Amino acid sequence: MSVRVGVNGFGTIGKRVAYALLNVGGVDLVGVVKKTPDYSAMQAARAGIRIYTPGEKEARAFEEAGLRVEGTLEDLLGSVDVIVDATPNGVGESYKPLYTKAGVKQVYQGGERAEVAEVSFSSLCNYGEAVGRGSVRVVSCNTTGLLRLICTLDKAFGVEKVRAVLIRRAADPKEVKKGPINSINLNPPSIPSHHAHDVKTVVPKIDIVTAAVVVPTTLMHVHHVTLRLADKPSRDEVLEVLARTPRIIVVDAGLTGLKSTAQLIDASREVRRRADIPELIVFKDSITLDDGELMLFQAVHQESIVVPENVDAIKALTGMAEDGETAIKETDRELGLTKSII
Ligand code: NAD
Repeated sequence: MSVRVGVNGFGTIGKRVAYALLNVGGVDLVGVVKKTPDYSAMQAARAGIRIYTPGEKEARAFEEAGLRVEGTLEDLLGSVDVIVDATPNGVGESYKPLYTKAGVKQVYQGGERAEVAEVSFSSLCNYGEAVGRGSVRVVSCNTTGLLRLICTLDKAFGVEKVRAVLIRRAADPKEVKKGPINSINLNPPSIPSHHAHDVKTVVPKIDIVTAAVVVPTTLMHVHHVTLRLADKPSRDEVLEVLARTPRIIVVDAGLTGLKSTAQLIDASREVRRRADIPELIVFKDSITLDDGELMLFQAVHQESIVVPENVDAIKALTGMAEDGETAIKETDRELGLTKSII
């Protein structure tokens, strides 16, 4: 029998998770909760996705727009095994009592406090901790990018220390009211930024400090990461580990000309739906090793990097896949993740 899933919140993350679930074996997307009857609701309806509204009062606007509504969030909760909450920061936690009352398993996003769920989750780090649980929180896009790298290198060589500078995109492409448009903002002015703490919600033992700025771009984040590795590997050994790790693409800027977020997205437009890049991009040319200290640049497509982790989270909660390796392999095949965007 299929696992029945609902998605509450159909914005940047919710719509990507919902469309991704249409390709996941053993999952039935029962429907999505949409607040306003805009273009993305119309597209969902055209794609055959059933639409629910948070309450009855929102349903009227959908009917006026000629869109069929199946019921309210409460109705949806009555017919699913798992709810993926992709509502704005903090809203998910306000829904927790309703989800719990309905007896459904819960997947939250990184904008929620860690306390909202039993486990903060990143597939390459702690899949096993989420198996059979009632709730997980998929950590944010920046944290997912950091954790994919840290857990990969920690398993291979032991990571003693991480220092990272995060150059964050100001807004998602659709967010027309956000800035800055001509400034680099310290975000926050103090160090560490909250990302270090967020990484520790998944790997508590790690010595990590992060600093973050926000820049006027919408495409991707870029991180400059310095890691102290216990085993002092060679550059080739690091490259070999990254080459065989799923969800990480090593880009050779010298060979391909891909040396900016704009070029990555341009390349992705040729081969990916919406130009999404759910893989972490590591720039090969930047990989520098000095006596166990590794430095590199990496890029994170904030709109899509957490989508495979959301699918894995459903598989872990419901026991669809017992171990991370199997889940990641299946999810990557179902969602079309690869080791190259060319
Ligand atoms: P978004 O604003 O694009 O989407 C949120 C959606 O929820 C919107 O469609 C909004 O209309 C709807 N909504 C608002 N209130 C609602 C309510 N009460 N009930 C149901 N739906 C409601 O936000 P997003 O960027 O998709 O972020 C969702 C979560 O994912 C946040 O926790 C965020 O921190 C996290 N996240 C975002 C990104 C990103 O880059 N956008 C990356 C990783 C994680």
